[in-house]
Amino acid sequence: MSKAGMVIVGGGKAGARAAIAFRENGWEGPVTLISDEALLPYDRPPLSKAAITDDAEPEAVLLLDKDMIFSLKLTYIANAAATSVDREKQIVELSDGQHVPYQKLLLALGAEPRRLSLAGAERALMLRNHGDALKIRLAFVPGKTVAIIGGGFIGLELAASAAKRGCKVTVIEAQPRILMRGVPESIAIQVHDRHASFGTALVTSTAIDSITANEVVLSNGRRILAEIIVAGIGASPRIALAQQAGLLIDNGIACSAGMQTSDPDIYAAGDCCSFPHSVFGNARVRLEAWRSASDQAVVAVENMLGGSATCMAVPWFWSDQHDLTLQIAGLPHLGTATVNRPGKDGAFILCHLNADGRLVGASGIGQGNAIARDVRLLEMLIGKGAKPDHALLADGNAQLKALLKA
Ligand code: NAP
Repeated sequence: MSKAGMVIVGGGKAGARAAIAFRENGWEGPVTLISDEALLPYDRPPLSKAAITDDAEPEAVLLLDKDMIFSLKLTYIANAAATSVDREKQIVELSDGQHVPYQKLLLALGAEPRRLSLAGAERALMLRNHGDALKIRLAFVPGKTVAIIGGGFIGLELAASAAKRGCKVTVIEAQPRILMRGVPESIAIQVHDRHASFGTALVTSTAIDSITANEVVLSNGRRILAEIIVAGIGASPRIALAQQAGLLIDNGIACSAGMQTSDPDIYAAGDCCSFPHSVFGNARVRLEAWRSASDQAVVAVENMLGGSATCMAVPWFWSDQHDLTLQIAGLPHLGTATVNRPGKDGAFILCHLNADGRLVGASGIGQGNAIARDVRLLEMLIGKGAKPDHALLADGNAQLKALLKA
């Protein structure tokens, strides 16, 4: 058994960022990164987009390549799932029988796709890893009928990719509209219309009864022809390992604001965990977002090395669908009032304010990077707890930078 050092379980964005952060923070001892995937750690955002639409078969976009692993002096264990944690002996047991001792442990386990449970569900493809993306890419042959179950971010990004590849696409969403939990209605309407303008049919408020050899059968009896079916119906935090270890669970692995679990030697980061966010009155949040995974990993590492950092980064994420980019900053659902900030060429940002007039979120949509700069500035204002004047927010020509200085 090797010398106990820093051990990271999970080779996604949080795990890979943490591995780098240990060296950035001057830790010179052993760092072991354990992944249940065969590949080196790679980035997931391209999986629903470029990995499907690029002409050439895609390589995984690596977060850590061999040279980086060598220069960071990491021990990378691939193809091995952590099956249990012995907290008393401080050992992680792996599916291949290895025992990895730890001084401090970071759980960066991610989330796993929710599975359909109905007759014929085995026909539905799912997207979580690079291999899944390759399968979907092969299936999206021009002219094929494709049904996408779930009008969330995966479903809609894949719908755009399938349409781009020349498939005949139908999106089926159980809720009354697409992106019900993701964005306000006025943004969802624009997204809906843009998909429709590319020939995609969108069916909402409809549960699915079953899947046959060539159809999706809806609960209202309607039958949708589908040679290819993909389900993107949400994700659940991976908590089995933490449950086995007896760690506290609260909408994922429960962490402090410093990303420490109920065991002082175990930390967590990314989709698998929740923590109280001080920018939002310590509301407990679990963030399924690429940049948040990275922010949390950096805080966790600092604290694993004896620091006292708290995760205060304002949540932010984006989604690219056809020529539209959506960006969400903060926690829009905490808002009680909304101010529309118009941009150029139909772009707009909804600024969400709470009952005290504090800016708590921003949801924007536009072509290309039309909203990027203002969303970034709004994100900074959210972080500062700003209570901006509504008229200024609503004036698309007013400089948000001035509000930041105020
Ligand atoms: P999601 O955004 O939660 O959307 C899933 C949608 O499917 C929800 O509207 C859900 O409704 C609906 N649904 C659930 N069961 C259904 C059923 N049986 N039939 C039809 N619709 C159903 O989840 P996702 O799109 O699967 O994405 C999974 C994860 O990947 C998330 O963490 C997401 O943030 C991440 N992701 C992010 C990006 C990005 O940031 N750009 C891109 C791709 C993926 P309910 O709300 O009622 O369950």
